[in-house]
Amino acid sequence: QEDVFKKIVSHCKEYGFVFPSSDIYDGLGAVYDYGQNGVELKNNIKEYWWKSMVLLHENIVGIDSAIFMHPTIWKASGHVDAFNDPLIDNRDSKKRYRADVLIEDQIAKYEEKIDKEVAKAAKKFGDSFDEAMFRQTNPRVQEQLAKRDALHERYAQAMQGPNLEELKQIIIDEEIVDPISGTKNWTDVRQFNLMFSTEMGSLSDAASKIYLRPETAQGIFVNYLNVQKTGRMKVPFGIAQIGKAFRNEIVARQFIFRMREFEQMEMQFFVTPGTELDWFHSWKETRMKWHQALGFGAENYRFHDHEKLAHYANAASDIEFRMPFGFKEVEGIHSRTNFDLSQHEKFSGKSIKYFDPQTNESYTPYVIETSIGVDRMFLSVMCHAYEEEKLENGETRTVLKLPAALAPVKLAVLPLVKKDGLPEKAREIVNALKFKFNTHYDEKDTIGKRYRRQDAIGTPFCVTVDHDTLKDNCVTLRYRDTMQQERVNIDQLENLIEDKVSI
Ligand code: ATP
Repeated sequence: QEDVFKKIVSHCKEYGFVFPSSDIYDGLGAVYDYGQNGVELKNNIKEYWWKSMVLLHENIVGIDSAIFMHPTIWKASGHVDAFNDPLIDNRDSKKRYRADVLIEDQIAKYEEKIDKEVAKAAKKFGDSFDEAMFRQTNPRVQEQLAKRDALHERYAQAMQGPNLEELKQIIIDEEIVDPISGTKNWTDVRQFNLMFSTEMGSLSDAASKIYLRPETAQGIFVNYLNVQKTGRMKVPFGIAQIGKAFRNEIVARQFIFRMREFEQMEMQFFVTPGTELDWFHSWKETRMKWHQALGFGAENYRFHDHEKLAHYANAASDIEFRMPFGFKEVEGIHSRTNFDLSQHEKFSGKSIKYFDPQTNESYTPYVIETSIGVDRMFLSVMCHAYEEEKLENGETRTVLKLPAALAPVKLAVLPLVKKDGLPEKAREIVNALKFKFNTHYDEKDTIGKRYRRQDAIGTPFCVTVDHDTLKDNCVTLRYRDTMQQERVNIDQLENLIEDKVSI
């Protein structure tokens, strides 16, 4: 699985999806650029989200707020004081780690051992993994289960607060070693704030210090009343936004899964106090359906309900997707209470209450948030789409089985040969369709090679223009996934493709 992931990362670079940032200067840690195909895929993901959230919901509108915001906003939201990760250094390797991640990896190691034993037992007795787990009496498994549970409990306790000495003690007691130096030479654990800061204007006093936003949500909260009033919105209603967020992540791992500059698609849904948990459950279901509508298989998604809640939340759940490195969070759904709006009311001194015309009462709405990372979504799409397929003739083809609606290029038009008027005919088709879909023209190399190039970037349709085309106005349409071909009239192409690629 790790190997597959490596291949996906190099495929992303080789085919113009994702490049390391500042590549010719050897890159910049956990920062990436999207290339010519990556930007198209990313835009399509954003469009798929925007259409389903904003256009399909009459009571949700969008905004685009600035990245720079008044510094007091981050005081009010709690980010200045509490947006921290517990950091630990190894004195030998001089590497920095997140103490919580080191411990979570240790828990995962116990789980790996348990899974291995249970899978062995399931195979031996011919039953399912769940049945084998249920019947498990093997003392080795029992021991690992007990260790995992005890560690999990101790860790959850230590993260309340958090208790930094206890986090260090866990690392020592569990004999966790630095993955690079292999030593246990750990420093104390300390808090590290994840916000990037800079100065605005020419003054360098404390008042000019501003932050790059670590989430887009606050831009929605501080505009909540502007939008509610000018849009004449009635609770329940939502505000959606897509935009960049910045976090000075300590451990940057797994390619675009954890970046220092990334993009979020967030929606804050304002509801009457007391109804928030119903809305929380309904948004969980709605968002899960959105993911599953891409057809990647329901078994590749799961909810992870949080036991430990952030200071502002009264319920939280993640939607996790099965990446090659395990089930990982792609989206968070949080019931944020009225924490943010109340805090902004307190810190700004302005009333931002909602007046309910039906009950003649004013109140601070409660908020359900759905927050998804564009880049993580991109990674999940790539991981699912990437396939090395063994063909009947013994060859292997690398193909991205992207949903047609998300594919960067929808159609490639290929003249069979570079003469006899075929390129001109092919160009005519491109010119007729390029305003509708991203359509490419390619005349270099053999048809087989050209098909492979399109497979590698996930183009769902290729049409080949041959000598007969000049007589019968028909082309050979080839489908990426099945590689089947059929003869279709050029006049039918637009409808045929439109039907498959529209979001
Ligand atoms: P994690 O636990 O993985 O750090 P989080 O719980 O802090 O994530 P949220 O604050 O809930 O994440 O952010 C919402 C979404 O934004 C996440 O589900 C994820 O898709 C995305 N996201 C958060 N941090 C990053 C990052 N550093 N790089 C890329 N995407 C991110």
